[in-house]
Amino acid sequence: MPFSDFHGNADVVRSVREMLAHGRFPHAVILSGPQGSGKFTLAQMLAKTMNCLERPTSDGLPDFCGRCANCVRIAEADDLEGRFAEAVEARENLREADKRETRILVQTHPDVLIIPPDPPQMLVKVDQVRHFIGEIYYRPSEGRERVYIFSEADFMKEAANSLLKVLEEPPDFATIFLLTDNPSALLPTIRSRCMQVRLAPLSPPEVEDYLAEVRPEWKARERGLVARLCGGGLGRARSFDLPQYLAARQDALALLAPAMGARDHSELFKVTESYRAGADGKSKLDSTIRVLYSLLEDLLFVKSGTPEMVRNLDIQGELQRMAEQVEFDWIVNATQRLGELESGMRRNLLRSLALDAFATAVENG
Ligand SMILES: [Zn+2]
Repeated sequence: MPFSDFHGNADVVRSVREMLAHGRFPHAVILSGPQGSGKFTLAQMLAKTMNCLERPTSDGLPDFCGRCANCVRIAEADDLEGRFAEAVEARENLREADKRETRILVQTHPDVLIIPPDPPQMLVKVDQVRHFIGEIYYRPSEGRERVYIFSEADFMKEAANSLLKVLEEPPDFATIFLLTDNPSALLPTIRSRCMQVRLAPLSPPEVEDYLAEVRPEWKARERGLVARLCGGGLGRARSFDLPQYLAARQDALALLAPAMGARDHSELFKVTESYRAGADGKSKLDSTIRVLYSLLEDLLFVKSGTPEMVRNLDIQGELQRMAEQVEFDWIVNATQRLGELESGMRRNLLRSLALDAFATAVENG
């Protein structure tokens, strides 16, 4: 899978390949961008290019062959979720004492190490960073460059401090990637020692093109809608559960209906009653809350005269009618109430009652 298969952010990709071509690739890079923008894919492509035995070029810039021994072995980690799950399972099967000492790492090539956040806290731990420090000063054995990919750069405090020492003076033959959707959460001292490369969210037409390739079985209308709803991330777009989204939106619209002048509340109560205790009820409520936010935001777009920003494209007419029923202040107020509902859920209030209270508050708001 050479660089021509990377979707979106063509300028960014060209500029990092140019740095490679001129031997000026930095030793420490923060690769940031929203979930699904291709941070890990790009880091893997760069790792392959740095170590490819064939060293092909395309458009006059370094590329990778995808077939040589190095490319093939690095590619075994392309499915990071799968490799990560295997590593976690392997740890689960260890004796208790060994379990505590074992950190999650993914390595399919001796010169490329992936350091994912360690469960259950999903933070990079100091032992993982120690392992990384323990091997970074060895020269590459089968490739030309040792590559370290922190796939989600959320560090425990001690881990971040240990990393800092390496970032001050990384060896010439090593490249460190810190992947994050929120670079400002990294310590300023880490940020200042890395070059920042930012992947922008993909535009809806870019996502639609991608979906036409990977989800040809979806209707064009569905692909267009998902391209708007996925927030510009390909991973999210590809695995988007549209029927589930539409069901959650049905509920969200029922919750807002009284505020839009509906007299009959029986539909509302039917909906809120269906939110039960337990994990199922929680994930159902989480998705309904997310949809409510997107509907309120769409109402704001319609009201402020930028309907082209609306994401729930298929119900644009209904959003138009809703927007005519309410004022700006109502939208602001409803967004605040939604925030309260969300934090109330963290305190484990009864879900159906909290949803009734939300619907009543926005009806009178
Ligand atoms: Zn190769």
